Formats: sequence, structure tokens, C-alpha cells
Amino acid sequence: MTESQASPLRHLPAVATVLATAEAALLLERHGRIVATDAIRQVIEDARKTLRAAPAAAPSASELAQRALACLESQSSGLRPLFNLTGTVLHTNLGRAMLAEAAIDAAVDAMRHAVALEYDLADGERGERDDHLRALLCELTGAEDATVVNNNAAAVLLCLNTLALGREAVVSRGELIEIGGAFRMPDIMARAGACMVEVGTTNRTHPTDYRQAFNESTGVVLKVHTSNYRIQGFTAEVSAHELAAMAADAGVPLLNDLGSGTLVDLSRHGLAKEPTVRQAVAEGASLVTFSGDKLLGGPQAGFIVGKRALIEQINRNPLKRALRVDKVRLAAIEATLRLYRDPDRLAERLPTLRFLVRDHADIEMQANRLQPMVAERLGDAFAVSVGECLSQVGSGSLPLDTLPSAALLVRSRGSQHALESLSAALRALPKPIIGRIADGALRLDLRCLGEADELSFLASLAQLDIDHGAAHAT
Ligand SMILES: *Cc1c(COP(=O)(O)O)cnc(C)c1O
Repeated sequence: MTESQASPLRHLPAVATVLATAEAALLLERHGRIVATDAIRQVIEDARKTLRAAPAAAPSASELAQRALACLESQSSGLRPLFNLTGTVLHTNLGRAMLAEAAIDAAVDAMRHAVALEYDLADGERGERDDHLRALLCELTGAEDATVVNNNAAAVLLCLNTLALGREAVVSRGELIEIGGAFRMPDIMARAGACMVEVGTTNRTHPTDYRQAFNESTGVVLKVHTSNYRIQGFTAEVSAHELAAMAADAGVPLLNDLGSGTLVDLSRHGLAKEPTVRQAVAEGASLVTFSGDKLLGGPQAGFIVGKRALIEQINRNPLKRALRVDKVRLAAIEATLRLYRDPDRLAERLPTLRFLVRDHADIEMQANRLQPMVAERLGDAFAVSVGECLSQVGSGSLPLDTLPSAALLVRSRGSQHALESLSAALRALPKPIIGRIADGALRLDLRCLGEADELSFLASLAQLDIDHGAAHAT
């Protein structure tokens, strides 16, 4: 190495020197000694590589401290809040339901304090964690008893394991669902230790199909709501009501997996009709299972409601402990369920329902309001217009039901690649903006952008690094 190449390397400050700078004080304060030292080591190493590749003046100790800080601050959490402008209200990959304020407050309180989770305040003895929800769930669904577990997949697993371990579980071939990746009914049955007995065909299942399958080894008969698909055309299915009567005659419990399940009649809010939990209970199911974070609009949870003797049996299953829900979620669930006692104000208070019932004209007005500001921010490389689109409910709920909505449509005046770069730059924002590219445009469906979030959306957009994003790529 010549003298001129070696000397800048020799001038690179040592870790201790960087740590001693005024700039490092903030680094230490925010991230602690261990993480700060590691980051400094890394930026010195990076600087060494750069200097080897192209000789230049060595960075100062202060500069290195700043680089280390910038590097650590850029490692923001993957779970940070984002704008869901995909048009799918209950987006499983984006965390499904956003909670109501009452649920958030209740969860925060439970996080911060000790609570009577399994403690009976009246007599000072040990209590049951299900007691907090049992009465509410029974009131809202008309069931005799209720329990709650980690999610609906867990609820189905636990019911099957309790009722049909080493026994037969009867199900129609038209209802062997797969929900988003890993939840496949035949696999869940196998893991629950149940022997699956398929009856009927994909499109048609008749009462006799079930009747012939019932025998002394039958542990349960399953009805599964085909929540994310519909079988149309030449079809026949046995209704839950009819199946309940047949199952009762045969002395076999009926488990009805509603999937999303809703506690209110959604047609009242202008949405397609989805069976309510109360209906499923009234139709005679022994047990009904449904999710907490789909149409119900609460945190992730799985509810099991139904006959007292069966719920007691479920609660004695050792798996129940492995699938139980912690105090934070229980608090949020309870607060969410309480909102259902006042259906008139539900759409105001429950974000999921508020987004689902949002009026098309209202969304369009918002789009027209935002369009000039977004167009200005994105610059000449893009054309921004307001367009019609269709939102979806998501999470496999009401799969055929689309909701007329309005979107900002961003088109590149240059290459398609520029649009993809813009989309990536929006995803890289401190508060990412997630849209959908379709038909050559980036579509930002505004259904889930509350009016109160508009300023924060524009502030996020103001941080867009247009140079490193799309404009650069044109
Ligand atoms: C969504 C769904 C499940 C799984 O529920 P999770 O709460 O996502 O675990 C099970 N069955 C049906 C019919 C569903 O729609």
C-alpha cells in the first residue's frame, strides 16, 4: 500500500474515541452501551471498507457517532402502525381488526395493573378467568355457557379434541375448508386426534349421507361455514337446523364452526347477511365457534359457546390451558363485547363496522380533497386521479360481497418500474402507506383512512424520499 492509501485508514478514530464524543451521548442514552458500541464498531468497519475501495479523508469521530445513531434509528419495528389502503378492511396480513377505543383503554389498564384475572373479589378466593366473559357471551348469543381461547382455529381444535379424540368426526365434502394457508379442516381433524368421515360430494350433501355415517363411534358432526368461498349451481346442503335435529336423534353433538361469525345482523347496516351466532345457537348447535378479530372487530380470539355440559368438558381438557388467553386480550375482548349491548352506537364505536358501512360518497369526497395534495407531493412523474373501486371485507368473510369505494389512482408518466419504486418507497416510510398495484395504477383505497388520520397521512407522505423512490427511477 502506498502512503496516500494507508493514511486515511490510520486516521479512522477508535471505538473509545467515538464513544467519548458529545454526539455519542445521545446514542448511549437511547440505546445503551452494548448496542451503541456494536453500532459504532459496525460504522467504523464500513468506513474502513469504503476508504479501502476509494481513498478519501477519514470521517471524524463525531461523524461516526452520528452515523451509528442514524443506523440504529432506522431499524424501526416491523410492527409499527401503517395505513391500510389496500381496500381489504380485515386484512389478515395487516393484523385484521383495529380495536375500539374502549378496548384499547381496557387493554392498557390491564397491562399496567394487577387485575382479578382468576380471583373472586366477592369472597377473596380463587376465581375463573372465563367468568369475566361468560355472562356477556351468553347474553349476546343466547347460549348456556361460553369459553374463549387463542383464536378460532384453536377453538375448533379444542372442540374436536374434546368430543372426538379417537372417535369419528363427520363432515360434508362441501365444507372441507382451507382458511389462509395453514388452517385446513382435514389437518386440524387429524391433529385433534379425530378420524374424519367425509360425507356427500363437493356440491351436494343430503340428510341421508349424514344419517348413514352416524354410528356408536361418532364423536361429533361438524358444520363448517364456507366463509371464504361459495358453492353455486347444482347444489344441496343440509341446513344447520335440520342437521341439529338429526344429530340430536342420533345422540351426536353438532359443532358449528361459523368462522367469522357476527353478533349483529349485518344486513341492518346494508351489508350482506351473514349468519349470526345467536341464530346458530337457536338452530340447535351443541357448540358454535367463531373468531374475535374478523367481523366481530376485537382482538385475536376464538369463542366457543353452547351447551353447559360440553363447555365444562372442554374446560377440563388439558389443551385448554395451552390455548388460553392472557389478561390483556381478555380485557380488550370484554370491552369490545360490551359495545354490542348498544347496537345503535356500534357503527360509531367499532372501527371495523365503521369502515365497512362507510358511505361511498363520503370516501369519494375525501379522495377529491386529498387528490391535489397527493398529486403535488408526487410531482410531475406521476398522474394522480380519483377513481371508483371495490373494497372487500377480507379475512374470508363475505367473500362475494364487495363495497363500492373510492381510491386515489396513481399512474406513472414514465415506466411501470417507477410505479413499483414508488410503491416500495411508500412501504419504507416511517408510517408505511400500503396500496395495491392493479391495471397499471397504484390504487390507494381510502375506505380505511379515517378523517382523523388525514393529517397524519399527508405528514407521512411529506416524508417520502422522492429522489430515492420513484421519481428517480423514471
Ligand atoms: C377464519 C376461520 C377459521 C380460523 O379462525 P382464526 O380466528 O383465524 O383462527 C376457522 N374456520 C372458519 C370457517 C373460518 O372462517
